[in-house]
Amino acid sequence: MFDTASKAFFHLLAGTPPLKTLASRYGMRRPSSFARRFIAGETIEEAIAAARAVESRGLAITLDHLGESLSSLAQADTATREYLDIMNTVVASGIGRNISLKLTQLGLDVDRASCVDNLRRVLDKAEPGGFFIRLDMEGSAYTEVTLEIFETLWGLGYREMGVVLQAALYRTEEDLPRVLRLGARVRLVKGAYQEPKQIAHQRKQEVDEAYARMMKILLVSGHYPAFATHDPSMHALALQFAKERGVGDDRYEFQLLYGIRRDLQQSLVAGGSRVRIYIPFGREWFPYFMRRLGERPANVRSVVSSILDERRARRA
Ligand SMILES: Cc1cc2nc3c(=O)[nH]c(=O)nc-3n(C[C@H](O)[C@H](O)[C@H](O)COP(=O)(O)OP(=O)(O)OC[C@H]3O[C@@H](n4cnc5c(N)ncnc54)[C@H](O)[C@@H]3O)c2cc1C
Repeated sequence: MFDTASKAFFHLLAGTPPLKTLASRYGMRRPSSFARRFIAGETIEEAIAAARAVESRGLAITLDHLGESLSSLAQADTATREYLDIMNTVVASGIGRNISLKLTQLGLDVDRASCVDNLRRVLDKAEPGGFFIRLDMEGSAYTEVTLEIFETLWGLGYREMGVVLQAALYRTEEDLPRVLRLGARVRLVKGAYQEPKQIAHQRKQEVDEAYARMMKILLVSGHYPAFATHDPSMHALALQFAKERGVGDDRYEFQLLYGIRRDLQQSLVAGGSRVRIYIPFGREWFPYFMRRLGERPANVRSVVSSILDERRARRA
């Protein structure tokens, strides 16, 4: 999974405009179109339908309105308003009130102060509305600034928010105590971005070892941590370690991505664990989709066969 060559390749493809245009045209067109395996749909209504289906299986949800790396303040303002609207729709629908977002979607690449203002607009509506807001972690260029913004807002008294830490980065073992000192909730992931060897583990085994070390710390000293991974050996380790240390099932949760390892999602719930599914939706699904292919090149086969099926169906 941590094959850097494949991550680099898919990262390159993700920046190829003709491919993006082509994929955007076909990827979500029909219920069976290839991107729908990982993305709930392009509209909030589709996301809510997916969330209801997930919740009916006994799992919790977090919604991600896709979009990242926005390059103007007007776009960031629109994205912020969209999040405010989404919260209204979520409340009306009755599904779980949990949202994941990226700071570059709120204008981080354009102007840090405006990004902070936009995030405050979201949090000012979210907190009284009973929402929890998770700041996703993007590539390493954003690690420090994301943590700084998180700390600033924490200092201002916002509490219904959490961060994400990536086990692949060397620095994370120092960032973890920094976030724990605040008392904040951490989602631990392995890391979806291709990072250079100067700052990140390159071998899967090293990433897994770092993940396991930090998972144990979080189980003992964390504040309702989330272990976001599809790796069954990490689930087994968490369950075993929690049992040994007397950490109850209600003091942490597992998180998995929509469309990936539904078998595991279900078996974790059946075993009494809390499980949350990350449900992405929206028109800007291409970079997210390419990251999922880069994590598991075998996914390309299923994408290619579904494109071929679609072409056959069109000709028939
Ligand atoms: C809820 C959630 C939120 C996340 N948020 C972030 C974030 O904010 N920032 C960030 O950098 N990363 C994030 N990630 C992605 C994460 O960093 C990894 O890139 C991703 O989860 C793949 O690693 P893994 O831990 O599942 O384990 P791996 O060791 O990579 O894989 C273990 C097994 O999981 C399955 N699997 C893994 N990936 C896929 C896939 N794409 N398709 C099909 N099967 C797969 C396979 O069966 C594989 O054998 C998030 C992941 C989850 C689950």
